[in-house]
Amino acid sequence: MFNENKERGFSTLSVHAGVEPDPSTGAIMTPVYLTSTYVQEGIGQHKGYEYSRSSNPTRDALEAAFAALEGAQHGLAFASGLAAVDAVLMTLKPGDEVIAGDDLYGGTRRLFTTHYAPLGIHFHFVDTQDPANVASALNDRTRLVWLETPTNPLLRISDIAAIADLLKDHPAKLAVDNTFATPALQRPLAEGADIVMHSVTKYLGGHSDVVMGALMCKDAETDAALRTLQNNVGAIPGPMDCFLVLRGIKTLGIRVRQHCANGRAVAEWLNAHPKVDRVYWPGFADFPNHAVAARQMRDFGGMISFTLQDDSLAASRKVCESTQVFALAESLGGVESLIEHPALMTHASVPAEQRAALGINDSLIRISCGIEDAEDLIADLAQALDA
Ligand SMILES: *Cc1c(COP(=O)(O)O)cnc(C)c1O
Repeated sequence: MFNENKERGFSTLSVHAGVEPDPSTGAIMTPVYLTSTYVQEGIGQHKGYEYSRSSNPTRDALEAAFAALEGAQHGLAFASGLAAVDAVLMTLKPGDEVIAGDDLYGGTRRLFTTHYAPLGIHFHFVDTQDPANVASALNDRTRLVWLETPTNPLLRISDIAAIADLLKDHPAKLAVDNTFATPALQRPLAEGADIVMHSVTKYLGGHSDVVMGALMCKDAETDAALRTLQNNVGAIPGPMDCFLVLRGIKTLGIRVRQHCANGRAVAEWLNAHPKVDRVYWPGFADFPNHAVAARQMRDFGGMISFTLQDDSLAASRKVCESTQVFALAESLGGVESLIEHPALMTHASVPAEQRAALGINDSLIRISCGIEDAEDLIADLAQALDA
């Protein structure tokens, strides 16, 4: 078997993580075990599988791959990113407090405020770019700190190690949504986090064909609690989706390299364009917390947001509706480049005054650079900005 303990490059890890030849045939690809149950030779005499909500060999291989990618001991697969977030929140009790970033993925914030807050869990939404804001919200009822870095859509950067350090002698767990960075660029567990969450729908799947979530953690106790919830609730992915993500992960290393190269080329080009006002990309030396990003990330990713000199809604709408290579769509992290308008699309559910406070204005456009040729992405944006 591929030895995950040995230091190897990330692309090697991507190709081999969690995957062994099928023991019965030698098939190099993990078979898709489309089965709900497993025949027992006698009562309780089975080969480790009883019922596919609890475990399935295709999902097991994927969960091993998830763990290997994040340098975790344990990996868990869920039916969506939000189902993974939900499993973490379900470990809390009424009266518990959560400190969360104020620029979270909209669906995560909606789950916190519309479902868990009425159940008696108290949320402090703070600007986690400064760890001092986390320190001042921390008290003896805090049980979870929920972090995204970089954030969506403003690419804000928070210092994972500094925040983990605040929690060193505190029972609160640190969970990091690593969807934007991917384990190719950032390893939150190595920075001191307890739980990593992914919307696998994005970069890990990578081909815009699956909705899935993941949790990775280091300690057996956290894993056991989350695994019990995974089985008790049953928000699990099917074996075909697990196979598609196992296949997607094989190219994660090489895809992320191209996403980053395209992101850099497009961000620098946008920054020099006379019709563009501000470009949000953590690779710029003057970007807030750039030094933190440069330390905790291997590169800066393919996600970019920008505003226009003409700050009217009509101008940004025109750009979003004029691209030909960039497809106008929500989501991100696939091989194809996407463009969207956060205020009208992904962040429409965020109240207008909160959007304004965060800086998500009507001129803001978000792009997910795919793995096409950078020259084609730039030419496409050039014609859209001239439209
Ligand atoms: C998409 C996304 C989620 C939610 O994941 P789903 O797979 O859509 O349920 C959570 N966090 C981030 C950062 C995301 O981009």
